[in-house]
Amino acid sequence: DVCVLGSFMKDLVASAERRPLPGETLHGTGFAEFLGGKGVNQAIAAARMGARTAIVGTIGEDRYGEEFLELLSSNGVDTSWIVRHPSLGTGVGLPLVLPDGGNSIIIVSRANAAITAADVEAAGDVLVSSKVLSVQLELPVEASHTALRLASTAGVTTILTPAPVGPIDHSLAAYVDILVPNEVEAAALTGLDCDDSGVPMVARKLAEEWDLRGCVVTLGSRGAFVLDRAAGYEERVDAHQVATVDTVGAGDAFCGTLAASLAGGAGLVDAVRLANAAGALSTTMNGAADSAPARAAALALLES
Ligand code: ADP
Repeated sequence: DVCVLGSFMKDLVASAERRPLPGETLHGTGFAEFLGGKGVNQAIAAARMGARTAIVGTIGEDRYGEEFLELLSSNGVDTSWIVRHPSLGTGVGLPLVLPDGGNSIIIVSRANAAITAADVEAAGDVLVSSKVLSVQLELPVEASHTALRLASTAGVTTILTPAPVGPIDHSLAAYVDILVPNEVEAAALTGLDCDDSGVPMVARKLAEEWDLRGCVVTLGSRGAFVLDRAAGYEERVDAHQVATVDTVGAGDAFCGTLAASLAGGAGLVDAVRLANAAGALSTTMNGAADSAPARAAALALLES
């Protein structure tokens, strides 16, 4: 019911007291490995919400690729549309985390960057037979464009997370039903401020410019703003109070849940309420892909 087109990123995280100087080799204080990438995170979040979920993307014929296949399969995500690149390895991220929580990150897209429009067309069957397609901007734009066009033309509801944010081709916008920026992305796309008084204007401006069915701006610890343009309704949804330990992946848990909920037939505002609970719960766990909550936990928080 949900199809995600997106990236696969193996994160190798080092902690250190400070950044190394040029030419210096520095002893780190800790190390951790995580499987992430916005595509993977969203697909796992959608599957944990009970949606039948498939992912389309490109990995290498390497150990990290195997790790992704294992994680996705064990979460019930259909991995049969994943392309394995014969020479480029799976994408990696190399974050350095400092004691104050600040970080510096190198990402190397590798196989993610090699996905072509033809690869996406080869996955046309799963794209057009889904109820909801979710796409981000971590892959080459031709791939995202092709997926959105095929799905939208077939009447599939399309969601775009405009991250990482950059100039967006208007021919892409035509195939997007629901845009889900965070506040930084929404501000970058409109040049407007996303504070509490500004966010309704931001959502309305994006909805009109992009001719959207709906616009959802995620506001971190302030919750989210939802504009259901088709229904002529908007609402500010407050964040849930939770014991936050790591906000990495909150936006992806939110988006994957939104996709699953819409695929299950929920209206946009109800889907945002469940996504808001899932986003909050994901901040109570470390990691990215693996921090998405189960549907029962999100429902319990929503009803508490
Ligand atoms: P991103 O991870 O893309 O920057 P946000 O930070 O806006 O996205 O987070 C996405 C969603 O996750 C928010 O809309 C909210 O529902 C939830 N969320 C994020 N941070 C918190 C928090 N500290 N407390 C409660 N919910 C949060």
